[in-house]
Amino acid sequence: MIKAENLSFSYRGDEGAAAALKKLNIDIAGGEFVAILGHNGSGKSTFAKQLNAILTPEEGRLTVFGIDTSDEGSVFELRKNVGMVFQNPDNQIVATVVEEDVAFGLENLGVPRDEMRRRVDEALKTVRMYDYRLHAPHLLSGGQKQRVAIAGILAMEPKCIVLDEPTAMLDPSGRAEVMETVRRLNREKGITIIHITHYMDEAVKADRCIVMDGGEVVMDGPPAEIFARVEELRALGLDVPQAAELMYELRKRGIDAPEGILRSAPCVEAIAKMYKDRGTANVR
Ligand code: ADP
Ligand code: MG
Repeated sequence: MIKAENLSFSYRGDEGAAAALKKLNIDIAGGEFVAILGHNGSGKSTFAKQLNAILTPEEGRLTVFGIDTSDEGSVFELRKNVGMVFQNPDNQIVATVVEEDVAFGLENLGVPRDEMRRRVDEALKTVRMYDYRLHAPHLLSGGQKQRVAIAGILAMEPKCIVLDEPTAMLDPSGRAEVMETVRRLNREKGITIIHITHYMDEAVKADRCIVMDGGEVVMDGPPAEIFARVEELRALGLDVPQAAELMYELRKRGIDAPEGILRSAPCVEAIAKMYKDRGTANVR
């Protein structure tokens, strides 16, 4: 569904600077939930902007749902299918009433009135913001604003949503709301999700993690596999989910802690089991 072949890109007016994307090869199937990780400047946002032709390849090729992003005649079709959510929820609000904000993109597409009503209501229900449809967006919490932004994209009925650090400016409950929404869109509607984040606990929720560094893909695999590579991630300036780090540090000290643990609940289970197996603690 998304195929980058030797995709290279550098920003103009920045001679001598290293390319932002270097011969990138990425294949993403329809319906996948992919997290993209990498420290600042690794090329994540540049790649995201290639996906709906805000930027286009300098060399190589990018096809998204069969559309070559360099084909100027197909940009409109491409953008209907690939929605983008950005970091700052305030920059994405265009109207003074929630439902008008969600309808905004559809007005530009020339969708008939009845159809627009149906799509806006459905999108707001999906992100659980229907009760707020007549509210003023600027009074909502950050998490609610991002859900309204997601509803605006959903109303366009895209095949893919690209989220570029959508939770970076949110508090923990806002982050959780957005992640829950995104996960559900992927599971229930089969929408392909490309989720760029620097929160490892969010990456753990993806089916696949792609790690970028210096405009290149340096790791690509399921979260359990990626987060087992603790030293490599640290060398790239990235964190490891706390549960994975604890298990890793225990293994380093010769304790037989299992691999592949990424979340706190299984981590607690594993530690309880280790104690029980050794019979050294009062475990009921
Ligand atoms: P990330 O999203 O992973 O932080 P970016 O894709 O924003 O990385 O940046 C990749 C590289 O491109 C960095 O070296 C960055 O400085 C450079 N870059 C990003 N945006 C621009 C721009 N508008 N003009 C010039 N250079 C840019
Ligand atoms: Mg970025």
